[in-house]
Amino acid sequence: MTRSEQLFERAKKTIPGGVNSPVRAFGSVGGTPRFIERAEGSAIWDADGKRYIDFIGSWGPAIVGHAHPEVIAAVQQAAVNGLSFGAPTEAEIDIAEEIARLVPSIEQVRLVSSGTEATMSAIRLARGFTGRDKIIKFEGCYHGHSDSLLVKAGSGLLTFGNPSSAGVPADFTRHTLVLEYNNVDELSETFAAMGEQIACVIIEPFAGNMNLIRPSDAFVRTLRELCTAHGAVLIYDEVMTGFRVALGGAQQLHGIRPDLTTLGKIVGGGMPIGAFGGRADIMSCISPLGGVYQAGTLSGNPVAVAAGLTTLRLIQAPGFHDALGRKAASLVEGLVSAARDAGVPFSADSVGGMFGLYFGDKVPTCYAEVTASDRDRFNRFFHLMLDAGVHLAPSAYEAGFVSAAHSEADIAATVDAARKAFAQL
Ligand SMILES: *Cc1c(COP(=O)(O)O)cnc(C)c1O
Repeated sequence: MTRSEQLFERAKKTIPGGVNSPVRAFGSVGGTPRFIERAEGSAIWDADGKRYIDFIGSWGPAIVGHAHPEVIAAVQQAAVNGLSFGAPTEAEIDIAEEIARLVPSIEQVRLVSSGTEATMSAIRLARGFTGRDKIIKFEGCYHGHSDSLLVKAGSGLLTFGNPSSAGVPADFTRHTLVLEYNNVDELSETFAAMGEQIACVIIEPFAGNMNLIRPSDAFVRTLRELCTAHGAVLIYDEVMTGFRVALGGAQQLHGIRPDLTTLGKIVGGGMPIGAFGGRADIMSCISPLGGVYQAGTLSGNPVAVAAGLTTLRLIQAPGFHDALGRKAASLVEGLVSAARDAGVPFSADSVGGMFGLYFGDKVPTCYAEVTASDRDRFNRFFHLMLDAGVHLAPSAYEAGFVSAAHSEADIAATVDAARKAFAQL
C-alpha cells in the first residue's frame, strides 16, 4: 500500500469520501487521490515523495507558482500582526483599489471568503437592485454551490430548472432558468418572452467548469445588449478567468463591461477570498448603505488579503500574461501534435493561462458537445500521465492551468509523457 492509499483509507473514516471537496476524491477517473505534502513553483510532491508537474495549481490560484517566496513572506508578516480582527484594515482598501484599477468595470468591491459566497451575494444584490426574482444561468457553468445555482435545465424552453443536488427544494430553483451556452437564438427568445422579469444573467465568460469552452463573439455581444435593453444585471463570474485569461480578465478580452463581476481563486493567492464588485449604483444597495444584507466574520481577513495583494502585484510584471498564454498555447500544440501522430481523436484549446483537453475531433462549444467526448479514454490518459509524474485535473470536465513557474522543460516533459500515453491508448 502506498502512503496515499493508507491516508485515503484513514481519511474516509472521519471525512465523507475522504475529501473536503468532491472532485478531489478521483470519483470520475477512479483510483486513489494523491495526498499532497508540499508544493513549490510548478511542482508538487505527494505523501510517497513522488514529484509531479502540477497543472491544477489549486484550481487556479497558484498563477505565480506554488509557495512563491514573496507571497509566503507577505503571509508570514501579516500573520505576526494577528490573524483576524473583525474590524477594518488599511490593506483591505489597498486590495479594493488594486482590483478596481485592474478591472475597470469594478467601481466598488466587497470581499468575502469564497467564490461561492461571491456569486451568491452578487445574485442577491442583482435581485435587490432590480426588484425581480428570475435569474438565467447556462448549462455546464458552475458558480459555486448555493441553492439557487445547483440547477439543471427544465424539460423545455422557458421552463424553469430542477435541482441538480439532493437537499435543494424545487421551490428554490423555480426562479432559475438554465439556457444553452453559445445559443444566441434561445437567449433572444427567452428575453423576448420574459425580459422584464429577469433580475440577472450569470455567466462564466470563458467556461472552465465543463472543460474549457469559449463563447462566440455574437453570443457575448447579444448577452450584453439584451441585459441592457431589459434592465437585467449582467454578472461575469470571473472566479476562474479573473486575472488569468488576461490581467483585466475575460471582460478585457471580450471588450464587454459587465454590471457586476465575481472574483475568487487568484484574488486570494491561495488563501480563502472571494470578491464581488461592479457599478457603484448597484453596489450601494448592499448593507450598511442599502437594504440587501451581506456580511462575513472573516471577510477581508488580513492574512488572505496579504497573499492576494502580493499575487496581484506579481502578475503585473511586464509581459506576464503574454508569457503565460504562450506557455499554455505551446502545451496545447504539443499535445495535439502528439495525439495526431498516435492517431488518437483529440483536440485542445487555451485562453491565456487556462487550457482544455478533449478526447474528440473538435473543440466543443457547449455542454452537450463536451459530454459527447470520450471519457473512458480521458480516464486512461489521466492515469498514464499521473504515473509519469504529470498532475492533471482528475475529470474530463475540468480546465487545466499553467503558472509563471512552469518552464519550457516542464512543457516539453509533459508533451513527452503524453506522446507515450497516447501511444498506449
Ligand atoms: C471555483 C468557482 C466558483 C466557486 O468558488 P469557491 O471558492 O470554490 O466557492 C464559482 N465560480 C466559478 C466560475 C468557479 O470556477
